[in-house]
Amino acid sequence: MADIIQLLPDNIANQIAAGEVIQRPASAVKELLENAVDAGATEIKLIIVDAGKTLLQVIDNGKGMSETDARIAFERHATSKIRAIDDLFRIKTMGFRGEALASIAAVAQVELKTRRAEDELGTYIEIENSVVLKQEPCAYHIGTSISMKNLFFSVPARRNFLKSNAAEMRHIIDEFIRVAMAFPHIFFSLTSNGQQVFHLETGNLKQRIVQILGNSYSAKLVSVKEEMDYMNVYGFVGKPETAKKTRGDQYFFVNNRFIKSAYLNHAINTAFNEMIAKDSFPSYVLFIDLDPSVVDINVHPTKQEIKFEDEKIVYAFVQAAVKHALAQFSIAPSLDFTL
Ligand code: ADP
Ligand code: MG
Repeated sequence: MADIIQLLPDNIANQIAAGEVIQRPASAVKELLENAVDAGATEIKLIIVDAGKTLLQVIDNGKGMSETDARIAFERHATSKIRAIDDLFRIKTMGFRGEALASIAAVAQVELKTRRAEDELGTYIEIENSVVLKQEPCAYHIGTSISMKNLFFSVPARRNFLKSNAAEMRHIIDEFIRVAMAFPHIFFSLTSNGQQVFHLETGNLKQRIVQILGNSYSAKLVSVKEEMDYMNVYGFVGKPETAKKTRGDQYFFVNNRFIKSAYLNHAINTAFNEMIAKDSFPSYVLFIDLDPSVVDINVHPTKQEIKFEDEKIVYAFVQAAVKHALAQFSIAPSLDFTL
């Protein structure tokens, strides 16, 4: 019998791997916005057509890429962000896996325009099914634009799994908000089918929360701020009256990365204790900054789950910080502690 095992060609391996990173248009939104943040952009624009099924474009004014980097960026495991495994535990960037652009290029038609400050001309690249169709110099402003067209055009089974435009758009807005909330000093905009959905001028965290979650929060945010030797927690919790019947405005960030943690959510719920009804959910936007060496963010490709070296300490610290903030607010409810 002949041997039967073969290595998959790169473009097929890429398409398979892409499924982990890019499940829907919103996953591309997260990856492309994070790349723009990592590139040091101060302005990031997201343009969507048909909930990202037809077009999804991110334009940034970050540091751009050289001609060679622009090409290699689409290879799998191509990253400028880590060099060795230890770097994962010192990481300051949102990305590090070097998989996003390769995945996007494996399942969509992609156009890149990019230029660095030191280059007179930028680079234009067209790529489809992991194959570069065109690469040429082009005039462009400093920064990068990546357009992703016709997501999953070559994987019809996956395209059929996409939900209605309304449902996919909700996912896109969720991801957009999660990034925009964490970087209030960056301008973000989102347009969908030519309509402006968000236009977020730069400001402080409180201003960004109000821009995103609405004016009803402007006098209802209680500041949280607590420091320990290797960990800070800061941000805002909504006054008890902002609690909702459905899990709504709850945002947790670890080193600026949005994460889901039922465990830490519980810490906050218990800090509110008697102040809100048993069946309602407090509102919060909280950030924990801690030494990257005590957290493992490489648990899942989307990095929304993380592992703390000592989860109990983080739990107790967050709970205490929220309790402390709420206690100050309830001793003198007429004073505004939100500043
Ligand atoms: P990762 O972000 O994990 O490094 P990506 O596939 O998302 O992997 O990106 C690959 C590389 O391409 C990045 O490490 C970065 O050097 C470069 N890159 C991607 N997007 C941008 C951008 N908007 N501006 C500048 N460089 C970028
Ligand atoms: Mg990335």
